[in-house]
Amino acid sequence: MTESLITARAFFERARAGQLTAVRCGSCGELAIPPKELCPACHARAWQPVPLVGEGTIASFTVIRVAPRAHAADAPYAIAVVKLQEGVSILGRIVDIPLDKVAVGLPVRFRPLGAQDQTSIGFGPLG
Ligand SMILES: [Zn+2]
Repeated sequence: MTESLITARAFFERARAGQLTAVRCGSCGELAIPPKELCPACHARAWQPVPLVGEGTIASFTVIRVAPRAHAADAPYAIAVVKLQEGVSILGRIVDIPLDKVAVGLPVRFRPLGAQDQTSIGFGPLG
């Protein structure tokens, strides 16, 4: 448990610095993001960090029109599953892309959101 907490913290520290990082299982080669405690494929705990390019395409998305209170001022906004170049998918918030332009297959680039210890995953336009 302690190991996975450290891994998750390292994941968000790197994300805050603009580096999206996956972990690769040293036993079977499975790639995972964000870090998990055990490999879902072989149940080993032999993760090694893998820096990602941070680019991918939108695989699916949802437009949030009624947001939790902390994000109420931001609504409406889009949350998307982004399939990264490396083949893993991660959930993130779409920023700086008009909602009517958000579409499955749209190329996006990772962007850290938030400040201090509240880093979250965002994706903005490629260009
Ligand atoms: Zn494995």
